[in-house]
Amino acid sequence: MNFKVKAVVLKEKKYLENQKYLKILTAKNGILNVKLHLHGQITKNIFSNISIAGFYEFNLFNGKFGIVVDCVEEIETFFGLRYNPEKFVLSQYFCELSYILNSSCEKTSKQLRLLLNSVWILNEKEKFSCDFVKSVFELKLLSYSGYMPNLVCCNFCCNYEKKDMFFDIFQGFLICKDCLKNVNNKKYIVKLTKAVLYAMRFIIYKDNKDIFKFKLEKKHLKIFCNIIENIVLMLIEKRPLTLKIYKQFREEINLN
Ligand SMILES: [Zn+2]
Repeated sequence: MNFKVKAVVLKEKKYLENQKYLKILTAKNGILNVKLHLHGQITKNIFSNISIAGFYEFNLFNGKFGIVVDCVEEIETFFGLRYNPEKFVLSQYFCELSYILNSSCEKTSKQLRLLLNSVWILNEKEKFSCDFVKSVFELKLLSYSGYMPNLVCCNFCCNYEKKDMFFDIFQGFLICKDCLKNVNNKKYIVKLTKAVLYAMRFIIYKDNKDIFKFKLEKKHLKIFCNIIENIVLMLIEKRPLTLKIYKQFREEINLN
């Protein structure tokens, strides 16, 4: 059976000189494992150019030995990212995290749109810092993947906003200052500034197309990035390699 899908490549594994296994994120079929090998319409050029974070239209054949790529057309390769190592590795991290958090979901149209939108912003929009795009992407992906934190109000007294609000990174909910007095284990609780709470609510409750339309001052951005990265790391078993590399780049940039 032949079928067509538009998809982003999340992972690739080379097998022999002329074969690759790809994990691709589609809108309706979740993540598919497909085999790409040099033959007919898959020329050497096409074969070697297919890469992680690229968006393609695949013509697939579902046969006895799995799904094989019959032919493929580029839609958007985000080639410009290759000239900026920090952005390039961040786009790879977005793909790795999409794979880790979405591997069991079937309806992935929102995740696909978020991934494309975020990589597009990295590629096209200079005004957004990498850390900003990273955190917005992470928080929205968490909410699409079944890990939406509860940011409506204090988990215990339902107060929407008191002077000081805190967040439990492990349990994913808000706590006000008064209720915090009754909590024994404060290991995973962090204080939120008003700006950070506003930003987190904005991302969670806005549509995909609007989530990047806000600003954070540098001091709030740092807290915001740390909190969101910690929520991600709490959920996944081990730190993705692409995240480690990204952090190394960030450290080098900060040292210079
Ligand atoms: Zn409370």
